[in-house]
Amino acid sequence: MVTLSALAAEASTCTRCALAAGRTQVVFGMGRPDADLLFVGEGPGAEEDRQGLPFVGRSGKLLDRLLAEELGLTRDQCYIANVVKCRPPENRDPRPEEIAACRPWLAQQVELIRPKVVVTLGRFAAQLLLDTSDGITKLRGRTYPFGDAVLVPTLHPAAALRGGAEPLAQMRADFVRAKLALAA
Ligand code: URA
Repeated sequence: MVTLSALAAEASTCTRCALAAGRTQVVFGMGRPDADLLFVGEGPGAEEDRQGLPFVGRSGKLLDRLLAEELGLTRDQCYIANVVKCRPPENRDPRPEEIAACRPWLAQQVELIRPKVVVTLGRFAAQLLLDTSDGITKLRGRTYPFGDAVLVPTLHPAAALRGGAEPLAQMRADFVRAKLALAA
């Protein structure tokens, strides 16, 4: 079976969709290859594209804070990935064909990591992994079976950075849900 680092090396030259043309580098993911907790975001922003690492900008700072405050964990104890591995230009939403082209990378990451709990950040990851077009407001607030794992949809940290107290409180509640699922 292929390893996660071999898969990352393979993905680093991916040209399966048009995002390849505009990227500085592929942002495959980071963290423990055997993590119990997997976060799935939307796609790299400018800073992630520059550094080659997921969630290293403002959203990432909030993710790190919630992870520490609600779960007592650091990012090195988890794995962090995205729906699309290359930065969409001007931070636009990833397109359906880009998500479809990138999907096998994420599927293989999930297969190799075999997490106990998957936390999706924002609507793109929740809709992709739960195979639904329902909005994130409807999806969050509960857990879902996800293969051998449990999936906890939450908001994207950018929504909490934009939206103030209510989305932040919802994210905290979802992180507590993830903590309970990890302990179960
Ligand atoms: N937002 C995302 O969805 N993913 C990142 O890696 C950074 C910001």
